[in-house]
Amino acid sequence: MMVVPLKTPPKDAETVNHKLLVQGGFVRQLMAGVYTYLPFGLRVLKKIENIVREEMDAIGGEEVLMPMLHPAEIWKTSGGWDSVDVLFKLKSRTGKDYALGQSQEEVVTPLTKEFVQSYRDLPRAVYHIQWKFRDELRAKSGILRGREFLMKDMYSFHTNQEDFEKFYEEAKQAYLKIFRRLGLTAKTTEASGGSFSEKVSYEFEVLTDAGEANILYCDSCDYCVNIDDINTFREGDTCPGCGKDTLKPSLAAEVGNIFDLGQKYVRAFDLSYIDADGQKKYPIMGCYGIGVTRTMGVIVEKYNDEKGIMWPDNIAPFKVHLIDLRQPEKSSEIYKGLLEAKIEVLLDDRDISPGEKFADADLIGCPFRVVISEKSLAQGGVEIKRRSERESKIVSQEELLNLIGE
Ligand SMILES: [Zn+2]
Repeated sequence: MMVVPLKTPPKDAETVNHKLLVQGGFVRQLMAGVYTYLPFGLRVLKKIENIVREEMDAIGGEEVLMPMLHPAEIWKTSGGWDSVDVLFKLKSRTGKDYALGQSQEEVVTPLTKEFVQSYRDLPRAVYHIQWKFRDELRAKSGILRGREFLMKDMYSFHTNQEDFEKFYEEAKQAYLKIFRRLGLTAKTTEASGGSFSEKVSYEFEVLTDAGEANILYCDSCDYCVNIDDINTFREGDTCPGCGKDTLKPSLAAEVGNIFDLGQKYVRAFDLSYIDADGQKKYPIMGCYGIGVTRTMGVIVEKYNDEKGIMWPDNIAPFKVHLIDLRQPEKSSEIYKGLLEAKIEVLLDDRDISPGEKFADADLIGCPFRVVISEKSLAQGGVEIKRRSERESKIVSQEELLNLIGE
């Protein structure tokens, strides 16, 4: 084990995700809203990232990696230099101004201009998974609200509104699929576009007490409304989405959003194309964000108990937490067997008490705890317990692989 869990949570932690992620050895806070991802945390982050990547690729997204450090000029071209209050601005030693990316319209639009000349070059959807920066006044919600955070942002370009809206709907469905795969129930709210656009947008909200948004949601469909923005609905009103159920109140965290950017950025950067009729036209642009680190925080807020985190199987840092209780040869054999079966396993062979090892296993929260002890071997095998269950059972080595490999 490279990182040993802490006996007590950090004193400054105000949220469950901050407390458990630090205590379990997933992250360390460098300053408010800025975190180091330790080996366990990085494994989880990469898994979330890959689920997002698979679904973006599935709807035709082309992955690139755009820079974090931006020249001031592009932000002045779009008007964001003066209007985006959370933009981090820096001055170099030669007196030049720069910004740290909080979004990438200013980079992707001039970039796409190089690859789009004709209507035949459209539609196009470009995305990346990159660190973003926001000059937040307050950043005390663990990795839910970072000054530096990992985000997937995609930008699409279309010849007409109809084609854009078709893709917008595909992206919305891909988002709902991503959150389902991550074990979250996301609801979609239509919202005003804020500083991004003048048009309608979708926010993806996950129900959690750690969230900052007050919403009304429906159990029968994915509809919800953010009552901080729109106050025309009340608790108990009929859901306008499906008409079947009534609206219930909840706190929620915004984990994703989709904006119709219209032609704001394509006009600012003069990204145009020649249409079939020979005329110069501007494409319609959309942007699609998912907060990857924030989503990880929301998952911890949802999947935990008084002992620690309970990761969903597909994003757990390891599938198996293997605890050796003074049976080094057998433990080593089983550890190697699991690795050969391509099962991710963490071996705890430290010379500490069984109780401490069990407490750490609960804190880290891998789906299966497997214990190899004199007692288990005498009973014919190893002791296995799911993190979410109370009872353990003894199984043979062969059964172990079948159980875990499922
Ligand atoms: Zn409904």
